Amino acid sequence: MLFAPLADIVIDMNIIQGVSASSGIGIGTVFIIPDTVKRVIPQQTIEKSELDSGWKRFCNAVKTVQLNIAMSIGELLKDDLQRIIFETYQLMLDDPVFVQQVRTAYEKDLLNIEYILDREVKGYADRLRTSGNEYLAERATDIEDVFGRVLNELLDYHPFNIEQVPDGAVIAARAISPSDSVILSKRKIAGLALIEGGVSSHVAILAKNYGIPAVFALNNITQLVKPGMTVIVDGTTGEVTLDPDEQTIKNCKEAIAAEIAHQKALKVFRNRSAVTKDGTVFKIYANIGTPEEAEIALKEGADGIGLFRTEFLFMSESHLDQSRLSEDAQFESYKRVLELMNGKSVTIRTLDAGGDKLIDIDEIPKIDEKNPIMGLRAIRLSLKYPHLFKTQLRALFRASAYGNLRIMLPLITDVSQVEAAKSMIRKVKSELDEEGLPYKADTPVGIMVETAAAAVIADVLAKRCDFFSLGTNDLTQYTIGVDRENQQVTALYNEFHLSVLRLIKNSISAAEKAGIGISVCGEMAARPNSVLTLAGMGIRRLSMSAKQISSVKELLSRFSINELQAIAEKSLHSY
Ligand code: PEP
Ligand code: MG
Repeated sequence: MLFAPLADIVIDMNIIQGVSASSGIGIGTVFIIPDTVKRVIPQQTIEKSELDSGWKRFCNAVKTVQLNIAMSIGELLKDDLQRIIFETYQLMLDDPVFVQQVRTAYEKDLLNIEYILDREVKGYADRLRTSGNEYLAERATDIEDVFGRVLNELLDYHPFNIEQVPDGAVIAARAISPSDSVILSKRKIAGLALIEGGVSSHVAILAKNYGIPAVFALNNITQLVKPGMTVIVDGTTGEVTLDPDEQTIKNCKEAIAAEIAHQKALKVFRNRSAVTKDGTVFKIYANIGTPEEAEIALKEGADGIGLFRTEFLFMSESHLDQSRLSEDAQFESYKRVLELMNGKSVTIRTLDAGGDKLIDIDEIPKIDEKNPIMGLRAIRLSLKYPHLFKTQLRALFRASAYGNLRIMLPLITDVSQVEAAKSMIRKVKSELDEEGLPYKADTPVGIMVETAAAAVIADVLAKRCDFFSLGTNDLTQYTIGVDRENQQVTALYNEFHLSVLRLIKNSISAAEKAGIGISVCGEMAARPNSVLTLAGMGIRRLSMSAKQISSVKELLSRFSINELQAIAEKSLHSY
């Protein structure tokens, strides 16, 4: 969901219910970022003779912004996510297609450059927002943010300085632009209370990474708080308390102290294996979407990468830089992760695009599908566009020489898809042989079991692949027939539905019988109750977002295998 619905339910005078974006509890004096005063963009006609000077001002403004961003990147060597945001901004500012579009409109319409830029940026951002793709829609904010900086330069308009936020503050704002979110790493921010923001937005990701409690969808929060007011942000319940009484402050401080102690205790698990109290060892892997996240995975004590969602490499701004998808660019990304993980297992999934993860690349014509989740996505898309698939497989096999790679095929529903992929792999291998390029010939090739079709014929599929990974997000969605993104049917989305559990059990049995490994990389791999059930059913490899690794290790350490089996039995017989 891009923008959570505005949930301005006031529970009592001081408690406002929003949507939790980053868990934990924080208390501090509120710092209100005023809703941006609307920039006034004048509209003026200009003479042809003025075109050059206006364009020069535009180029200078772009240069100033580039310089400022470059300086920020320099200060952010250790802050990967923020650095990526700024590097993307540099790419956006350099985007020749968009800059040409602005120039063409400017020369054709003969209106001042500020007006033209503002209009073109809005048009571009609107197209991204209505693309039907959450990731692209969120990039609209980036476009507005970075070119908004250019507009500020052109208009000599310098409104609010984020640097004024003091340590320990709770920030109340309409939204925090991706470039302003640098403040989250620079200051000790106690909490975020925002009117807008998607739960998978940059701000939410950064807040999670820095452990800052955050609640979004708080209608009117900037008006409800007063300067100097104490505010509690509970990112776990999604509640924000304004001007709490002494007892509430005391309770909150106790909860914070307990949370700090808990997090501190969890740190010891980073360097430990995941082991039950009776000595059964589990492997805990990380799910990543970019090579940079592999560094976080290592820091958090991951045993490897259980799922690299490569579609995120393909999902950056549409026409900005198609070269990032070249065989060489992909090879570099995969190699980087393999080298970083230094011999630890790295499972890279081939493109899982389509459905809710639309990509806009030259190789794939735009398709209008009535029911995209059931449509041309994942392995279906790769097999339909063999050139795209082959490029990715070549990059993967070339990278295989640099570490411990496993290749995973998404959304398999039929044996023929595995066979078609294997035939393409044979082709790729013989090409690499002819070219004398090194690769690991025995790189395991496995599949995501994330459809009921795959889980039901798991015994047949197990004979044709080297491993299974259970994608419980899609498995739940397709088995129950409930859209995992649709809030109207959230109550029906039940990973513990007996049908889902039976399909998981069937897949585990098939994998065991065939002697191949099976892991779980859907969200069930990290939710406390499902971790226990999965472990009790026989799963020994779990893959999750890096920040959840320590708590899952800690959770498993409290149980014996017998206890876990009893929990699983209960789940399987709860009907
Ligand atoms: C899944 O479906 O469980 C999964 C891990 O894949 P994704 O969430 O990328 O669809
Ligand atoms: Mg999936």
